[in-house]
Amino acid sequence: MNRRLLATFLLLLSMISSSWCEKSCQTCAPLTPEECPLINECNICTETTFTRRQNRNGCQEVTISCASGSRVILELSNGHSVSRKAATLGSFSCQSNGRWQLNGLNYTEKNVKSASCYTASPDRQNSPINLVTQRAIRDLDLIDFTINYAPNDGDSISWGGNATTFTIKSRAPYTNSKFSATQTDGVTYNLYQMHAHWSHLGANGSEHTVDGQRYVAEFHFVHFDPEYGTFDNAVGKENGIAVIAVLAELGKRNAEFDKILNAIKKGDAQDSVAGAHTVNGVNFNYRKLIPGRSQFFTYTGSLTTGDYNTCVDWTVMRYPITVSVQQMSILYSFHIDNHRENQSVLPGTIIRKNFA
Ligand SMILES: [Zn+2]
Repeated sequence: MNRRLLATFLLLLSMISSSWCEKSCQTCAPLTPEECPLINECNICTETTFTRRQNRNGCQEVTISCASGSRVILELSNGHSVSRKAATLGSFSCQSNGRWQLNGLNYTEKNVKSASCYTASPDRQNSPINLVTQRAIRDLDLIDFTINYAPNDGDSISWGGNATTFTIKSRAPYTNSKFSATQTDGVTYNLYQMHAHWSHLGANGSEHTVDGQRYVAEFHFVHFDPEYGTFDNAVGKENGIAVIAVLAELGKRNAEFDKILNAIKKGDAQDSVAGAHTVNGVNFNYRKLIPGRSQFFTYTGSLTTGDYNTCVDWTVMRYPITVSVQQMSILYSFHIDNHRENQSVLPGTIIRKNFA
């Protein structure tokens, strides 16, 4: 008898549970994109598609897919954002429980306020630009930042001739020093060369500015995707080049920088000013010109010289290094000005940062 009562009770319980579940599922209203959190479409948004399906619970689920190669940005209700390349992401979905799920990397993000797909257009990428700290998107996904440069990998220094800057090249075949970060989307880049921009007008020498502030100089660490074989092949390819930009302000002398300046001074004494010089075996340690604190901005832009090739992955370090007045004066005697002015930030340029 007791057993029969228990069985009846369990049956009733299961009926209640299943009807509760069913009811819960039935109350899932059919979703439209409008009912999901706002989906922004900027004028360069392409191929954003919406698909619907019933999920396992019988609830409607809307999946929004961005075109391959585009970047999706999810704005979270806590004021932060995450972004991924759509190809990495696969798809993400707005479910009837009001949560958004990112697929492909076992990643779930709740409380998404809005979602946007952006496709970078090659003719819409400009560098350098002014980086506005408050407007940059804080991307919680920007976790990895690995600079793995071999000590003394800077092998030769060239300057003079038609060159407006010096260039330190890594030891061929340029495979000793590497850089990878979340923003490089899984690609490990090889460090090819480093050069700098400056102006004899002192504090006007940097190319990028931060909140309108210009610095005395800017060092560019130029990397290429080894998938393209050589640096020259990688130029102009989508994400073929990744540049780390380091700003410099006046202050303490940077001892490693002296290796460059000493070579230039020596060369000027020995050769004609118009001549092109190359000194080998300088054993330059690139790492000593990278700031200790790894807060940065990142965006996709262009080279700032030559043909201004687009599709460059930029990482601009937030904090500057210091160089001395005497060190800068040696550069001014070699070339007076070689920086490109700020370009306008075009629609679709997404500037992200890894700090609050
Ligand atoms: Zn440069």
